[in-house]
Amino acid sequence: MIPVTKPFLPPEGDYLKLIQGIWKRQWLTNMGPLASELEMKLKDYLGIDHLLFVTNGTVALQMAIKALEITGEIITTPFSFVATTSSIVWEGCTPVFVDIDAQTLNIDASKIEEAITENTQAILATHVYGNPCDVIAIERIAKRHNLKVIYDGAHAFGVKVNGRSIFEYGDVSTCSLHATKLYHSIEGGLIVTKCPDLLKKMASIRNFGISGFDSFNELGINGKNSEFHAAMGLVNLEYVNDIQERRNAITNRYKEQLGNFKAYMPLWHKDASQNYAYFPLVLESEDLLLKIKSGLDGNEIFTRRYFYPSLANALPYLEPKEYKITDDVSRRVLCLPLYHDLTLEEVDLICRLMLRIQNN
Ligand SMILES: *Cc1c(COP(=O)(O)O)cnc(C)c1O
Repeated sequence: MIPVTKPFLPPEGDYLKLIQGIWKRQWLTNMGPLASELEMKLKDYLGIDHLLFVTNGTVALQMAIKALEITGEIITTPFSFVATTSSIVWEGCTPVFVDIDAQTLNIDASKIEEAITENTQAILATHVYGNPCDVIAIERIAKRHNLKVIYDGAHAFGVKVNGRSIFEYGDVSTCSLHATKLYHSIEGGLIVTKCPDLLKKMASIRNFGISGFDSFNELGINGKNSEFHAAMGLVNLEYVNDIQERRNAITNRYKEQLGNFKAYMPLWHKDASQNYAYFPLVLESEDLLLKIKSGLDGNEIFTRRYFYPSLANALPYLEPKEYKITDDVSRRVLCLPLYHDLTLEEVDLICRLMLRIQNN
């Protein structure tokens, strides 16, 4: 059986060593020493000044919206994981979708301005598959219309644009450290901002808005994460470069073998590095996709229609709406298996099957 993804697990001993320390200190959560160490090491690894380790990538988005005091319309992409949209609705704001670009699969920056109304307060865009949005164009639009920018960087761990961490763009960027992501702490998330005041505010929000023993700053939530999760994050950080190298090799193998397959890959941002978080293909037709998917399923090889369906017409709490490119692409996109210990022989097998199914 070949799953579409598999969480990376470090050598058990590495993890247990850190867990023994937790037993000694008897400090389990509430920004303990491992959580603080993880924040420091991640800042160093990513090359950024400020960052918060939080519960998960969804709470990170909700805290970002809350901290920026956004209450109105938020322009966003219908081609993302549901948490991007649900966070907007959860915070009492209104998502306004803008269609994606067919090549990059990110929000089409050239269509953002026509969606702006007097109630628009922010743009919340996803770096889909870790591929950076057109951050320069989005920044220009945001300045012109006085909008805040939040990036859902759940897929974008380690990606750089012009040598700078992708998380440094926008007012706030978030990341998910969920077990299925490229780099993980079992459950976990990150919030990044360049603004020290905003960081302070989000740190307070993370801790119920408590300011002292008997006083409160603002409306907060429990956005903290535990020492056990931090320990997994710390250990996995030692392996993240190896994981990326493996995934790079797998990705190259897919590309070599699938030259004649009727599909295209998302066009990557020209000034950005890649993190090999996913291997998505946009197939020639939905028919071909269904044939490939069921053919591979029959061989116990599992792929994922990620993202499908469009968030703009699948959520029971929103009026369904059509977006031409998103509807088309989401019906034809398929993510192939990609994880650290997938072998090149397995990749060859997957590709042989795909070419055979296509040509049948
Ligand atoms: C995984 C994911 C999230 C949510 O992150 P969690 O840590 O699972 O809460 C949000 N947005 C995108 C695009 C994701 O892929």
